[in-house]
Amino acid sequence: MAVNVKSDTVALSMAKGYYFHHAAKYKVVKKYMKGSWVMTRFDGSSCDKDDIVLKISYEIKMPIKFGTIDSLKIYQSSHQRRWSGDKPRLDANEDSEYVYITETGYAYHKDIKCSHLDLSIHLISKENINSARNLSGGKYYRCSHCVKKDVPYYYIADYGTNYHSSILCSGLKRSVERIKLKDVKGKSPCKHCV
Ligand SMILES: [Zn+2]
Ligand SMILES: [Zn+2]
Repeated sequence: MAVNVKSDTVALSMAKGYYFHHAAKYKVVKKYMKGSWVMTRFDGSSCDKDDIVLKISYEIKMPIKFGTIDSLKIYQSSHQRRWSGDKPRLDANEDSEYVYITETGYAYHKDIKCSHLDLSIHLISKENINSARNLSGGKYYRCSHCVKKDVPYYYIADYGTNYHSSILCSGLKRSVERIKLKDVKGKSPCKHCV
């Protein structure tokens, strides 16, 4: 039986997604942010097996100009304990026969932190959705589960085939499966971590 785990990169993408999801609801945020509100930066954000640290920086327009100062840089940081599941940790011996795979990946991985196991989720504007191609070279199609009306930005995954309006859509494949090495079928060992 396989246990679903989420890689650090994926958890961090999701945290960013939640931020955009919530920020989008507040008109005032969009009104006063300098440039586009999706230009929010996440420099220094990190995620490990226990914690997610989201560092957010953006500029706001000043309602009144003070000399040459017309905007303020805002830094916010949030630190959250990451839910790491209720599965007991396996001892090292047992661990060694397990590998990590993704549904669409060509390789299996020994190291869950391997960068080639990255299933990144990106935000893309609706103007760019038609020209965007996934890492297999295919187009993104409208997800019938979550896209009910036009929105300015959509979520796409590197190897996904659909664009989504909700980061929580089950169609956004982001699960990494942990399976026994002997159960791996049709995948080759990752050159970087196996
Ligand atoms: Zn790997
Ligand atoms: Zn969807």
